[in-house]
Amino acid sequence: MSNRTFTMIKPDAVRAGNIGNILQMITDAGFKIVAMKYLHITTAQAEKFYEVHASRPFYGELTQFMSSGPIVAAILEKENAVADFRKLIGATNPAQAEEGTIRKKYAASLGENAVHGSDSDENAKIEGEFYFSGIEQF
Ligand code: GDP
Repeated sequence: MSNRTFTMIKPDAVRAGNIGNILQMITDAGFKIVAMKYLHITTAQAEKFYEVHASRPFYGELTQFMSSGPIVAAILEKENAVADFRKLIGATNPAQAEEGTIRKKYAASLGENAVHGSDSDENAKIEGEFYFSGIEQF
């Protein structure tokens, strides 16, 4: 169990003006922001980030969507960070997300679901290092 996870506020939530609301929910839930940046990734960068999903039928849609506008990428710290953050964001499909979760509140669809949250400690480390160098983490 590690105390760090990685998140992105996805282009749909940025377009809808929900960066502030989502960051508020994250910090209210006790997560500390260790690193953060606002950037627009290329399709090639999205393909690299989501390489593990390359064989999935939605890979093209996902990588197009993630490079369709700016995102906020962040590393978060809290005890039991990965599991607690998955609980805070809710199910992948917002129609199945519990009340009070970020996806229930701010996500529109299975594909455009407002936020990313790492699914393991190992992936949290890999994903955090994709965006941030050591001197960008506090
Ligand atoms: P997560 O860990 O809850 O984000 O879900 P997954 O790892 O299963 O999928 C990664 C991301 O791919 C999701 O957050 C969605 O943005 C996207 N995704 C998953 N399933 C679908 C789908 O059926 N269609 C589309 N367009 N995108 C999907």
